[in-house]
Amino acid sequence: MLKIGLTGGIASGKSTAAERFSQLGVEVIDADQISRELVATGMPLLARIGDELGAEFIDESGALDRRRLREHIFSHPEARQRLEAILHPAIAAEMEARANRASSPYVVLMIPLLVEKNLASNVDRVLVVDLPEGLQIERLCARDGVDETLARRMLAAQASREDRLNVADDLISNTASPQELHQAVDSLHQKYLALALSNH
Ligand code: ADP
Repeated sequence: MLKIGLTGGIASGKSTAAERFSQLGVEVIDADQISRELVATGMPLLARIGDELGAEFIDESGALDRRRLREHIFSHPEARQRLEAILHPAIAAEMEARANRASSPYVVLMIPLLVEKNLASNVDRVLVVDLPEGLQIERLCARDGVDETLARRMLAAQASREDRLNVADDLISNTASPQELHQAVDSLHQKYLALALSNH
């Protein structure tokens, strides 16, 4: 199965691009969504998080206390590492399993942290949705209602634009309209179909 890794900075347009791939009948497998599913109430990984990081991260209803965990790992890098050691292999295995079960000619793996976590080798091609920082901040502020200072801090916590461009096999510049983003996806779709047919 041909696997396309879709990534980009926050508010670059990954979800919008992914939505278009879905409309074209391509199966999109979203790392963030899988991550949430794997720690849903009653899931074995949630129990492991409770055992290894602390029972205080599970609330009274048995659900993950995301906010508490987020705040804890923000100031405890070793706890973040332990959490990632629990989650990341499970997410990767689930993505791989879903990719191999997919019935579309190729699959798109949406992995926001592909560059930060060095995951290019998990996919056949890396597709980066790219934006200049100014426009990215503008769209982030508009979408999430954050101010510019916070938006800049969020960007600074991610891989740089340059780091992403360095690992890109394919690139969509999302500076124009959503329609043009759709057209860019449509033309990559043709390319990926051809690659899938030729066994990449
Ligand atoms: P990501 O999934 O990378 O965080 P989104 O797809 O949610 O980014 O896009 C971020 C915001 O920018 C959303 O509000 C989206 O509707 C908007 N957006 C995406 N592409 C464009 C575009 N080409 N022109 C204007 N707004 C866009």
